[in-house]
Amino acid sequence: MSLGDMDPEEFRRAAHRVADQVADYLADLERYRVLPDVRPGEIRAQLPSQAPAAGEPMEAILEDYARLIEPNITHWQHPGFLAYFASVASAPGILGEWLAAGLNSNVMLWRNAPASTELEEAMVGWLRALLGLPPAFDGMFTDTASISSLLSIVAARHAVPGLRITERGMEGVRLRLYGSAEMHSSIDKGAIVAGLGRAGIRRIPVDEAYCMRADLLAEAIVEDRRAGWLPFCAVATLGTTSSTSVDPVAAIADVCAREGLWLHADAAYGGAAALLPEMRPLFAGWERADSIVVNPHKWMWTPFDASLLLFRRPEVYREAFSLVPEYLRTADVGAAHNYNEYGVQLGRRFRALKVWFLLRWFGADGMQARIAEHLRLARAFAARVDADPSWERMAPVPLATVCLRYRDAPDDRLDALNEAILARVNASGRIFLSHTRLRDRFTLRVSIGNPRTTEAHLDLCWRLLQEAAKGI
Ligand code: PLP
Repeated sequence: MSLGDMDPEEFRRAAHRVADQVADYLADLERYRVLPDVRPGEIRAQLPSQAPAAGEPMEAILEDYARLIEPNITHWQHPGFLAYFASVASAPGILGEWLAAGLNSNVMLWRNAPASTELEEAMVGWLRALLGLPPAFDGMFTDTASISSLLSIVAARHAVPGLRITERGMEGVRLRLYGSAEMHSSIDKGAIVAGLGRAGIRRIPVDEAYCMRADLLAEAIVEDRRAGWLPFCAVATLGTTSSTSVDPVAAIADVCAREGLWLHADAAYGGAAALLPEMRPLFAGWERADSIVVNPHKWMWTPFDASLLLFRRPEVYREAFSLVPEYLRTADVGAAHNYNEYGVQLGRRFRALKVWFLLRWFGADGMQARIAEHLRLARAFAARVDADPSWERMAPVPLATVCLRYRDAPDDRLDALNEAILARVNASGRIFLSHTRLRDRFTLRVSIGNPRTTEAHLDLCWRLLQEAAKGI
């Protein structure tokens, strides 16, 4: 038995086979149902209950992968996946991810990841500029928007003058964070982890288009101060998860500036639209935020995971998170980031490589053309809904997600009916939609963000919706 790793020639053969497997997968995704026909526990039952005592040949492992895993996942890459928000791995991104796996560069300190650190600095800069944001923003990649927002809430907490929470803890401090009624649950989680508790989160009502009422934010802050709270952070969501509404970030920035609050912009999904200069007025004011999160792993076709966190005051993150024990001390201080000092993680994945590959392969114009096409497809789909009196559009379509509901039945049956329509469309295996509740009504969502999704898939989606509604 060899005590080393796999023989290089055996690895080469297996790697070619893996490349073929993935290329075949991507070439013919539609041979699979978007949602696999499996019940909970069915896959587990086919896996041995214990790891093998002796090593197995890679051929056997790859055969099991092809038989058991690939057909039984929900296919996020499938062009009929119109649920949630798209999270699609483009081919150039996959190639970058493969190479990053080979290098296994751990991007914690410049010393142990020089090229990876500097490529990350460059990619943060490229993306910032592509989004039309000013050079005053520094930033980094994290795994998810949830973590980008958590880090920002902790930084905002650290930035409150006179508290020194990083040293003293939260005792006796009643911090309050604000976001709209439509804010993502990841912010609640971040606030809970940061020690605010649910009591420290105040949700501000939205207008008829599901956008935060900045006037009510201002009132809430005044009211809370009187009641002994310490308002410290407001979150503007630019592309909410249910309806993709865009909060009035300029008005929220005014309130934050007046009241001395940290402004965090959660543009996890919507931010990608700012790749198009003509879409930037929708986000006007986000350049005044203290921190912004945009997820390349959503609408920028970066293999999961990659979240871009931009911040104006890197020193605040560094003060909040930097701990340098002796074993991490290096002489290379100053010129480049030691990224572990800006967040919770010490070890960090080399995410910049896949971003570099895909930004170069698509080019700015290729990225923009795809975003523009998704916006066009969404508007065309919305127009179909509007033209059919049996259906109702449930929200404006500022981005590439359409919220709709069947309405040609008595009111008290509509929730159940739409739920049944959703189940029927999803059972087709060709299209996968998800749902939400808007104004407490069951609402279907059609979200477009996959470069493989074409007009034909949206025709199919509309036809399946119509057939489902008729058939029930
Ligand atoms: N913020 C918004 C507006 C989202 O829509 C989502 C996910 O869809 C998130 C945050 C969380 O993203 P992640 O899975 O990267 O944590």
